[in-house]
Amino acid sequence: MGTKSRKSIYGSSTRASAERAKEARSEADKLACDAWNQRMLGYKGPAQPSPTLGDALNAGYGYLEVRCLGCDTHQTVALDIVRRAKSTPIHELERYMRCKDCSQVRGYPFKRSHLVALRATKISASDPPMTWFPGER
Ligand SMILES: [Zn+2]
Repeated sequence: MGTKSRKSIYGSSTRASAERAKEARSEADKLACDAWNQRMLGYKGPAQPSPTLGDALNAGYGYLEVRCLGCDTHQTVALDIVRRAKSTPIHELERYMRCKDCSQVRGYPFKRSHLVALRATKISASDPPMTWFPGER
């Protein structure tokens, strides 16, 4: 039996620290996203500053809910398919959002939209769009 290598002595605690750092990061990202959601839903903005695309994905928010100002429908955009750098702030995406229906009706890309909030899931019957709180207009 020789002396134990540093790796085997400290290995597990290094791994534990790395693991904790990873957890702390996603916790921090989650809190940043929650704070942004609360600001958007409770005060309707300002959208700036906002978490980044990468932060949102890391926090488990895979979707962004957007309201089209043309037809007033809510749509979700999957953040993992957005072709932007992961360091792009969420609010930067607002001007790239394009409503399919309105673009078709108008014959040009209709890009007037309003960011609603980050979501973990898509809009569906069992998981309806978020509404402003407190209360609708
Ligand atoms: Zn529209």
